[in-house]
Amino acid sequence: MRLKNVPGARDVIAESSLVVHEPEKQKGNWQQVFGNDHPVHIEIGMGKGRFICEMAKTHPDINYIGIEKYSSVLLRAIQKMGEEPLPNLLFIRMDAENIDEVFGLDEVDRIYLNFSDPWPKDRHAKRRLPSKEFLARYDRFLKKDGVLEFKTDNRGLFDFAVEELPQAGWKLVKITYDLHHDEEMMQGNVMTEYEQKFSSMGNPIYKYIINR
Ligand code: SAM
Repeated sequence: MRLKNVPGARDVIAESSLVVHEPEKQKGNWQQVFGNDHPVHIEIGMGKGRFICEMAKTHPDINYIGIEKYSSVLLRAIQKMGEEPLPNLLFIRMDAENIDEVFGLDEVDRIYLNFSDPWPKDRHAKRRLPSKEFLARYDRFLKKDGVLEFKTDNRGLFDFAVEELPQAGWKLVKITYDLHHDEEMMQGNVMTEYEQKFSSMGNPIYKYIINR
């Protein structure tokens, strides 16, 4: 998702208390940032933040961090939360390529990837958020018993993500090729903006949960 450049977005972000500025300075320190010892769950590529805002409202005992590359997109999430900020939700504007500079060993309990950009050209495979290169980064900060949950309506990206797992040393815990008709995996499901849009068009939603 890349919205039109919104004038002033960077200024709003710079002044927002919902956004962690210079997040690499908090590496190893995230529970202190929230002021509690609750688990930390992150969503990478959160878009306008529907999913992570709903999750944070539903699970007040979990600390959530939403990560988004583009200011114009993050602005929408800030505007949404600005009216009723939550103590357990923060945002970071960054390219996740450097995510292992922001989180330290065992700091994160769960990672969500929702409708990640497909980067269809083979030469861009390394930029896909469920690629083995990104899985190696996540390996550096996800707790040993932590899990990663990925959902998408893009079959090519999903097949790629499943094929990457053995080389990267990750294992499938659960998988479905039709999430919205899978009673067990639908429990507690919170729809993202893209999920609402593409499932309403009749597209099946694919999802896996993986660990190491
Ligand atoms: N997760 C949302 C949803 O399901 O509705 C948004 C999906 S949108 C297709 C993908 C989002 O991921 C975009 O907002 C994009 O800017 C963001 N994104 C893609 N690559 C990223 C990266 N390397 N680091 C941070 N955000 C990224």
